[in-house]
Parts: sequence; C-alpha cells; structure tokens
Amino acid sequence: MHEFGITESVVAAVRERLPDATITCVHLEIGALSGVAADSVRLYFGPATEGTNLEGARLEISEVVARCRCGTCGGEFEPDGPIPLCPCGSPDAAILSGGDLRITAVDVA
Ligand SMILES: [Zn+2]
Repeated sequence: MHEFGITESVVAAVRERLPDATITCVHLEIGALSGVAADSVRLYFGPATEGTNLEGARLEISEVVARCRCGTCGGEFEPDGPIPLCPCGSPDAAILSGGDLRITAVDVA
C-alpha cells in the first residue's frame, strides 16, 4: 500500500498547483531505484483521483534507468536490482540518476 500514499501525494501536488484546471494527463518519471512500482501507481491513480479535478486524467509514466557511481573503484554502472552493487563487489554506490519520482508535466484541458 506504500504506492497508494505516493500516488495520493502526486495527486495532491498537482491539485495544489492547479486547483481550478481540468487535468487531462499527468506525466511522471519513476526511477528504477526510487522504490516505487510503476504498475502499482498506474493501478492506484484512478481511485486516487476520484472526485478531484484529475478524475479521468491519463497517466504517462517513463521509467528511468538507474545509474550509480562506485565509491570504491570509481566506475559507473547500472544496478540490476533494488540494492546497487558494483560489478567490483562494492555496495558503496552513489545514485546518479533513477533514484526518485518526479512529475515532469501536467496537461490541462
Ligand atoms: Zn566498484
């Protein structure tokens, strides 16, 4: 249910900025290391927008590939799981991209 709260906060953020507009589409970027499952956000978006000015809006999600830099060997790599681990074996990784969820655009009617 973690994603339901996240989806609600996305809806709340849009409503706060555009309280009087009819929203037709919300564009999101979800990083591979954000800990947010895009499928769950898609699932919860409908219920979370019910009775709001986002009701009936589409949801477009771009999933962003994660990039990390290793603090041990200095190499950059794409982690293949939720916990970044460098091919050299070090877990000392700084997330360069793909670590968060962002609203990139909102379309209004
Ligand atoms: Zn490394």
